[in-house]
Amino acid sequence: MSETIFTTTAPLEARSPFELRVNLGKDVPETDVRSALATGDMGFLHSFTTGATVDGPGVRVVAWTSGCMWRCIYCHNPDTWKMTNGIPVTVTKAAEELRKYRHGLKIMSGGLTISGGEPLMQHRFVVKLFTAAKEMGVHTALDTNGYYGDRLSDSDLDVVDLVMLDIKAWDPERHLRLTGMEIGPTLEFARRLAASRRPAWLRYVLVPGLTDDPGEIQQIANFCAGLGNVERVDVLPFHQMGKFKWHQLGIPYTLEDVSQPESVSIERTCAVFRSAGLKAH
Ligand code: SF4
Repeated sequence: MSETIFTTTAPLEARSPFELRVNLGKDVPETDVRSALATGDMGFLHSFTTGATVDGPGVRVVAWTSGCMWRCIYCHNPDTWKMTNGIPVTVTKAAEELRKYRHGLKIMSGGLTISGGEPLMQHRFVVKLFTAAKEMGVHTALDTNGYYGDRLSDSDLDVVDLVMLDIKAWDPERHLRLTGMEIGPTLEFARRLAASRRPAWLRYVLVPGLTDDPGEIQQIANFCAGLGNVERVDVLPFHQMGKFKWHQLGIPYTLEDVSQPESVSIERTCAVFRSAGLKAH
């Protein structure tokens, strides 16, 4: 692997994932990208953030991966779509970074969350970083759209304490319109996690006019309640904090005039999940 991959001076740590990051891994030769994906010895990260309280239990360090094959029309971080927009980082360096926080994370009942982008675009890197975290005694959570869940073996899943699965819609056509991808693999992964009784949280992004149909939400709620392993549902209100990224990247953005959902709508959505017997926040 070429040495050029370690020369970026961009800081790994960011105040939030809403910092725009582009082309930080652009000089990595294609062969090195392929080698990194095959071995997991190196990954591409948008950033590390610390102190998060909304990305899993307790206080978390979050590693935001770059690379996503979906094209959600409400994506908050479209700069993470392209893997080489991220910083090339060896798994050793990422683990060293995590090690700085390990005592605090344990005291605050937190851990490491890997989010994105879509982490399973780099599943070998993710498994290696989670393995390092488990060796430090740090709790691990994977935030994923689940599409590539079948890339993880059962033993890979053993280093994941919690899967936070994003289900974006229920109706297959709506799902395709919202994300550009089919829903089937996500639901398949959800069923597999349930069959092996692995803890899962559902994450549901509430976008006015797009994902706030109570009938649709009810179907997702029923599905998740039937799985038996969904411990909690996080309803995530749409916001416009990522809008500037669409503009700066020159990607047409169709949600210019969409507002945040009102609190009554958020509460109504939580109530649908609760009516199915789930804990929703
Ligand atoms: S799956 Fe996540 S990162 Fe990928 S496009 Fe959708 S919202 Fe963005």
